[in-house]
Amino acid sequence: MAVVVELINVSKSYRRGDEFVHALRGVSFTLAGGEMVAIVGPSGCGKSTTLNLVAGVDLTHRKDHFPAQLSGGEQQRTAVARALVHRPAVVLADEPTGALDSASGAAVLRLMDELRREEGSALLLATHDDAIATAADRVIRMRDGAIEAAL
Ligand code: ADP
Repeated sequence: MAVVVELINVSKSYRRGDEFVHALRGVSFTLAGGEMVAIVGPSGCGKSTTLNLVAGVDLTHRKDHFPAQLSGGEQQRTAVARALVHRPAVVLADEPTGALDSASGAAVLRLMDELRREEGSALLLATHDDAIATAADRVIRMRDGAIEAAL
């Protein structure tokens, strides 16, 4: 499958007062069409920053716009269906099952998986959910802004 996302040695720092927060420190990976890749790791390791850079979204603006704000299984499923209706090459999801009970989370996961198989969209998901990590083709484990392991 064609490569749809390629990050080569990407770094990102935020200025916080006089300090710099090094959110990403040389992250490289590729995502191929139809692949489902989960980015996992502790809070603050750089998952959202990675997704936002792939999306071309500045982290200072994202809060009002990001669909991850949706809560509830129905809304989440609607968001996923809407995202996939145009057959995008890549779907980015930040904690897509984060606010859901396990049955709703499983339904969202099933929907994403089915539609990616049907439409060939690649999925790049930041998650704490073991079920997503298990379902993914590959898991990228981050720590302190870097890739600790790619499995
Ligand atoms: P994760 O999604 O894994 O929880 P983030 O990508 O949100 O991690 O954050 C990575 C690091 O960058 C953290 O130390 C976080 O505090 C910092 N960070 C994220 N967004 C901002 C911002 N807008 N300003 C300053 N620091 C930020």
